[in-house]
Amino acid sequence: MKMVVLKGSDAKLIQEEMKRAKDKFPWWPADRIHAAAIVAEEAGELLQATLQARYENGSFERIRKEAIQTATMAIRFLENLPGLSPHGYEPPAAEVCIWQEDEEDGWKTSCGEIFDLDNSTPVDDDMRFCCFCGKRLEQKRVPEANDADIA
Ligand SMILES: [Zn+2]
Repeated sequence: MKMVVLKGSDAKLIQEEMKRAKDKFPWWPADRIHAAAIVAEEAGELLQATLQARYENGSFERIRKEAIQTATMAIRFLENLPGLSPHGYEPPAAEVCIWQEDEEDGWKTSCGEIFDLDNSTPVDDDMRFCCFCGKRLEQKRVPEANDADIA
């Protein structure tokens, strides 16, 4: 198999573009889908540059520049990939609905609802978001009997 090696000048441009991009946009999405959208946006600009070169007097240099930017964002995607969430959107930690276990009524939510889970727990049922307010769900169990005796 023949290895494809970047021309030295392309590799240098990608390095420079990476530094520029990270200085200008230090923020990077926490999930795969939004990170992939950034790569796709650059690829869309590359397509636009080729179309403009064909039909609207666009330049070869612009195509090259957009290809460098697409490659840079794909590399940045790869750099971040191990830590990216597979979900499309993770609400910030502050946006939490606490489900407090109540021995008589089931689970009382901090958004003012009650939900009965038939002796299961939200975590056991893979409930990650409150079905009433949509915030990230955090469960609080009833303390063990021994703890209650002390209190
Ligand atoms: Zn809620």
